[in-house]
Amino acid sequence: MLAYIGLGSNLGDPENQVLRAVQTLRQLPDIELLACSALYRSRPMGMTGQPDFVNAVAKISTDLYPMELLATLQEIEQQHRRVRTAQRWGPRTLDLDILLYGDLQMHTKELQIPHPGISEREFVLIPLQEMGEDLMIPGKGSLRELIDRLPEYQLTRIATPDVGARP
Ligand code: ATP
Ligand code: CA
Ligand code: CA
Repeated sequence: MLAYIGLGSNLGDPENQVLRAVQTLRQLPDIELLACSALYRSRPMGMTGQPDFVNAVAKISTDLYPMELLATLQEIEQQHRRVRTAQRWGPRTLDLDILLYGDLQMHTKELQIPHPGISEREFVLIPLQEMGEDLMIPGKGSLRELIDRLPEYQLTRIATPDVGARP
C-alpha cells in the first residue's frame, strides 16, 4: 500500500530530528521509502511562542495495516524522546502523522485517514506538490484545488540537498 507520512519537529535540532526519522523509515523492514520532500520551515500552529517547525513529507510503500503503521510511527517518536503533554500542537522533538493510506478513508478515535488537517496545512500540501504528486485526497478533492484554496502561505524551503536521494 502507498502511504504518505508527515514529519515535524521543533525541538532538539529539528532538521536533524527529521533527517534521522527519514533514515529510520528507510531502514525499517516493513516500510519501503519511495521518496521524501525537501525540508520546510513553518510557523507553529495554535500555541505561539514556541520555536518554528521543520516539516517534510515521505512517500512510502508498506504492508503494514493502518493501526500497525501508526504504532510503528509512535515507536519512532518514542525513540526521539518525544514527551507527550496535554498541550495540543505544543513543542515536540518529532511528530509523525499518517497523511494518506492509499485511498482509504477511516474515522476511528485512534486513527483518522486522510489526516484531518491535510486540507488546511501548507506544510503538508506544498511538500506533496513539490514531490510532483498529482493526488486526489479522498473526501477532500484534488491536491491542486486544496493548494488553490490556501491563504497566503509562510512556508520556506530549507536549502538542503535532496533528502530522498541520500544514501
Ligand atoms: P494533529 O493530529 O492535529 O497534527 P498532533 O499531531 O499534535 O495533532 P498527537 O498528539 O501527535 O497530535 O496525536 C494524538 C493522536 O492522534 C494520536 O495518539 C493518534 O491516535 C491520533 N491520530 C488520529 N489520526 C491520526 C493520523 N492520521 N496520524 C497520526 N495520528 C493520528
Ligand atoms: Ca501532527
Ligand atoms: Ca501526531
